[in-house]
Amino acid sequence: MLIVGAPGAGKGTQGKVLGTVPRFFHCACGDVFRSLDTRTELGQQFVAYSSKGELVPDELTVDLWSVQIDNWIDTSRYKPDIDILVLDGIPRNVRQAEILEDHVVVHRVIHLTCPNREELARRMRKRSLKEGRYDDASDEVIAQRIETYEEETKPLIEFYDGKVADIDATKQPIEVLSDMIAELVNMDVYKDMANVIV
Ligand code: AMP
Repeated sequence: MLIVGAPGAGKGTQGKVLGTVPRFFHCACGDVFRSLDTRTELGQQFVAYSSKGELVPDELTVDLWSVQIDNWIDTSRYKPDIDILVLDGIPRNVRQAEILEDHVVVHRVIHLTCPNREELARRMRKRSLKEGRYDDASDEVIAQRIETYEEETKPLIEFYDGKVADIDATKQPIEVLSDMIAELVNMDVYKDMANVIV
């Protein structure tokens, strides 16, 4: 399943909680990038793009993501035959969604909606202080991140037409989580997997 939403909508917060539940595995693409050694060529590229609020090029992103997923499979942290993969922050545009079709089957797209851009900016400013995220630090970068979302990521909602569940991300975090869980336990793939005893 995918979590799609503007920066600050709460994808990471909710994804992390779901990832603690047995049979769900959370992968945040931004975290994969942030774990890179910034002295490497790839790490430098990430810093260059993210510090401007822009997306890292698609091929580079999906290649890195797929190496990380293979690594988690090899070390049995993620077991694709029994775990539901919760992807947060990838795909970020239609091109990535097309490339990903060779890697994953998308059953459900959770769209965290927060039409209030000022609220998103407020959350990002708070996060930059709490988590030391330089890519959320300046108003200019925050504005660019929101614009990048509107222009590049939002078209995914149409791309995944029929699989999308809109969830109001302005509610209290616990209510957002509850709404997401209600959607997830309704997925056919979840019901099938719930019957498998491991
Ligand atoms: P996030 O933690 O998801 O907000 O991502 C932080 C930054 O990492 C973004 O602003 C991008 O520069 C980069 N990034 C994360 N995921 C992707 C992706 N799927 N495609 C391209 N760039 C990404």
